[in-house]
Amino acid sequence: NTFKDLGLNDDLLRAITDMGFETPSEVQDKAIPLLLESEIDLVALAQTGTGKTAAFGFPMLQKIDIDSRTTQGLILSPTRELCLQITNELKAYGKYCKGLNVVAIYGGSSIQDQARDVKRGAQIIVATPGRMKDMISRNMVDISKITYSVLDEADEMLNMGFKEDITDILSHTPTDKNTWLFSATMPKEVATIAKKFMHNPTEITV
Ligand code: AMP
Repeated sequence: NTFKDLGLNDDLLRAITDMGFETPSEVQDKAIPLLLESEIDLVALAQTGTGKTAAFGFPMLQKIDIDSRTTQGLILSPTRELCLQITNELKAYGKYCKGLNVVAIYGGSSIQDQARDVKRGAQIIVATPGRMKDMISRNMVDISKITYSVLDEADEMLNMGFKEDITDILSHTPTDKNTWLFSATMPKEVATIAKKFMHNPTEITV
């Protein structure tokens, strides 16, 4: 398969060429067509380094309405480093998507600056759970209209004690959104979260 075979648009294909990616990785091959073609919840068992960021990033970039400034995609990740890494990858993949604004929200950095960035209109927010919850409670961010949410490294987030924060955050999102959960392992806690927040998820393993 090529990236074009997966159904990605020309803006994304151009960026993929610039990045030097030649062929889709296994998780990309499995997830991208599914997520592009249908409105589903997804549970993907995939380790880091498998190309999972692009597996959820490309479909999200293609499916959101970039002409709107409403926040439509929310990605939760366990650490500041991963949050920044995902943000930078999405910006690179979306470099030809004119008007795209991806904002990172994480602790240990000015909350006012992050609130200002969100206010400018972020179609996609990439966040760590603690800071995200804080900004919701201060009305600095509105996630009431998101259509896609990603729980990245779900096992790590639960290991780090973010279960309550994730539950709180997701309670501020529409019930009819799609949720895409990525995890390296599937302990009982992850299965519980999947059961609680997802509807009949499609499962893939790489
Ligand atoms: P991830 O598993 O999302 O952290 O990605 C691991 C690394 O692989 C990142 O540096 C990506 O830029 C890179 N990458 C992702 N997909 C591909 C691909 N299809 N071909 C080559 N490199 C890739």
